[in-house]
Amino acid sequence: MTTETISQDQTLLEDLRAARPLLWTNPARSDAAEVQTVVDGRVISLADSIEAQDRFLRFAPLLAQLFPELRETSGRIESGLHRVPAMQRALGLAPARGALWVKADHGLPVAGSIKARGGIHEVLEFAESLALENGLITRESDYATLAQAPARELFARYEVAVGSTGNLGLSIGVMAAALGFRATVHMSADAKEWKKTRLRARGVNVVEHEGDYAEAVAAGRRQADQDPYCYFVDDERSLSLMLGYSAAALHLREQFDAAGIVVDADHPLFVYLPCGVGGAPAGIAFGLRQIYGAHVHAFFAEPTQSPCFLVEMLSPGKSVYDYGLDNRTEADGLAVPRASELAAEAMAPILSGDYTVADDTLFLDLHRLRVSEGMQVEPSAAAGFSGPRMLTGSDAGRSWLADTGLAATLPNATHLVWTTGGLFVPPEAYAAFAERGAAIAAAADDDLAR
Ligand SMILES: *Cc1c(COP(=O)(O)O)cnc(C)c1O
Repeated sequence: MTTETISQDQTLLEDLRAARPLLWTNPARSDAAEVQTVVDGRVISLADSIEAQDRFLRFAPLLAQLFPELRETSGRIESGLHRVPAMQRALGLAPARGALWVKADHGLPVAGSIKARGGIHEVLEFAESLALENGLITRESDYATLAQAPARELFARYEVAVGSTGNLGLSIGVMAAALGFRATVHMSADAKEWKKTRLRARGVNVVEHEGDYAEAVAAGRRQADQDPYCYFVDDERSLSLMLGYSAAALHLREQFDAAGIVVDADHPLFVYLPCGVGGAPAGIAFGLRQIYGAHVHAFFAEPTQSPCFLVEMLSPGKSVYDYGLDNRTEADGLAVPRASELAAEAMAPILSGDYTVADDTLFLDLHRLRVSEGMQVEPSAAAGFSGPRMLTGSDAGRSWLADTGLAATLPNATHLVWTTGGLFVPPEAYAAFAERGAAIAAAADDDLAR
């Protein structure tokens, strides 16, 4: 190791401990066209993502029946892909450094967040396996029959439980209840009140915990262990969740093809993914890597007070508390003290980097996105917008772009910001977010004018 890299590492650790925004690039990332991804001792591949996508398709007729908002898409739960030139200007990203796009998971129906992908997939997989075991369907059946009495009586005997900071509980609670399961969501102290209210209105049992996300998960796991009729969705360990998320890559490929977006050696793709426990961004990064090989560069975005994934990459098994951080952030979807080891294991050779964002910047970008593009996202979902700035505007980013040779291809680059939640934020709550962001923007303008 050179003295230079040692001092860079030193600066990074100081920034991490001081909760200053930073960019870390992954020295262990592989440039190989194909990397083997091992999760829990199992090799996973694109075939697994396709299987998850096929499962969503089998359930589509049933979902169209259960959720009126899905009739238009025949039961498909998907989001738009948008070019956002006004936001690109607001962020000061010069066109010579690539084009800014948004993958709009903040508008995903049913769950209102990216959790519609993983969380709903796991509930569907559980329901499907029960129905298959009990001879109610074959894989070729019309799954709309699962809305009828025999299936509902079967599902009613089971409980689906999960620990959540809010959004995962929303997706799992809503889908489990709609299928006829009993549903229990263990909420951490960070969970917003409106998310609990929304769930209770659907007949979901919401258990409130004083502790953080890791404690809510542990409590749920303990309860489920004692009850053979309780199925626990384990966000820290679930392969089904990750594969549900990964199917997003297949749909994105169709959208890229339709939009004429090319990803190859001369046209790199940078994807900026807000990260909590790591399952969602890891699933998507894995899926994209299977499709586009080393030409896709996934960067995870975390709050400065909750960078659990970065901590896990630097020192496995540690939590953000070990670095003197408090895990307090308005980005409730990302307020996670300890990352999923499963996700970290899968990402070791795939992840290009991880950066952290201060809460004020989340609100500022939330405000900019509203003003420039009229898109409403929750604070967690604004974390991606710091990515292009971190990559092209920081010393760490610029030296990485130079070292990898990517600097030369930047004019052809696609910067894809994954906006991960927002649809169901109540108007009053959103207005308060936007107001906070506008005040930060005004203060920044004052500083410039001075
Ligand atoms: C859950 C969530 C994420 C991140 O997903 P993880 O699997 O926890 O990493 C990002 N944004 C929002 C809005 C979320 O709810």
